[in-house]
Amino acid sequence: MRQRYEWLETEWSKMREQSLCREWQTVESLAEHGGTWIVVGGKKLLNMSSNNYLGLAHDPQIMAAGEKAARQWGAGGTASRLVLGNYPLYDELEQRLARWKQREEALVFANGYQANTGVLAALAGRGDVVFSDRLNHASIVDGIVLSRAEHVRYRHNDWEHLAFLMEKHQGTKRKWIVTDSVFSMDGDKAPLLELIKLRERYGAFLMVDEAHAGGVRGERGQGLCHELGIASQVDVLMGTFSKAFGVYGAYVCADQVVIRHLRSKARSLIYSTALPPGVVGSTIAALTQIEADEWRRQALQHNAQLFRRLLAEKGFAVTSDDTQIVPITLGENERALQFSQKLWERGVAAVAIRPPTVPDGTARIRFTVMATHQPEELVWAVEQLTAVRDECAGGM
Ligand SMILES: *Cc1c(COP(=O)(O)O)cnc(C)c1O
Repeated sequence: MRQRYEWLETEWSKMREQSLCREWQTVESLAEHGGTWIVVGGKKLLNMSSNNYLGLAHDPQIMAAGEKAARQWGAGGTASRLVLGNYPLYDELEQRLARWKQREEALVFANGYQANTGVLAALAGRGDVVFSDRLNHASIVDGIVLSRAEHVRYRHNDWEHLAFLMEKHQGTKRKWIVTDSVFSMDGDKAPLLELIKLRERYGAFLMVDEAHAGGVRGERGQGLCHELGIASQVDVLMGTFSKAFGVYGAYVCADQVVIRHLRSKARSLIYSTALPPGVVGSTIAALTQIEADEWRRQALQHNAQLFRRLLAEKGFAVTSDDTQIVPITLGENERALQFSQKLWERGVAAVAIRPPTVPDGTARIRFTVMATHQPEELVWAVEQLTAVRDECAGGM
């Protein structure tokens, strides 16, 4: 019997050698309202690894809306939406999403992973080709695999490479281009204006994942496509409620004919229980605040600029982007882990990101800024970062 899981033991030792074993920490309490400070192992830490960009996850109104919906409709979704698991709340959320995004219809999924896998598998198929940015989120990659379409990866944000590959695939039935709008581990933005041109030139379909831009970019937080004024030319706009919304779930907005198809064909929607009513109630309340609270987006933008500027002043290699995701690339896995550990000891929680989440040799610390961080907290964090860099042999 001791031999039963030998291959897992072997794999685990290999992973350990490469510093690829993963563990999680338990957040014992939220030291301050808004979740910018957390307590782990009895230690108070500034949270710089949260996707709760606008601080909405702990907003009293949003939490209360969830509680109210749970009391009225129950704790669970009880069934798939297609099997009497659909409540007025879901319809209300979808109508509001469609209006917010200025698209014909919207469809809510249980989470972003299910949205991407469900949508891609339902819309692309054998004989089609899906062109996907090399740094796209894993849920997009898995969706393409499920679709059975040909999977062609283009170099990150390199639309010329994409154009070259599309030219080579002129003969295919249907062509899809899929991209994140703001990339989750790099904090840079897709060249959406160029992708729109390629969509036109090759009669392709375009799907954009706004997970890190929804709530954050655009005049009412609709995302980067709206900020650029191209939302009506994107076939499928996808986004999540798990990041800036501070809740859970995901959505796609598209033409009615597309949404109708997805409602009957997206397997991750059909064969999975509807979101709990409380989650939907909170999401509706979060959408209200996202549409109204321009100050949150401004505070986030201000903090992101400040953090980037302070890092650059201290000689860190930060990119010229303007997003709330700020990676510091360290290279080796072990190095990123040590750096994160040292920051932790100094009171800054910022998690090391390793392959396969990022390409080999580009392990990094992914810092995320929140609207609710105080500027002086960011100044202090950069001081800690600088001290850790100076401690680490060899500089950076
Ligand atoms: C987080 C993320 C997802 C997955 O969303 P969940 O709701 O957490 O499942 C999808 N795409 C991108 C780009 C993401 O960053």
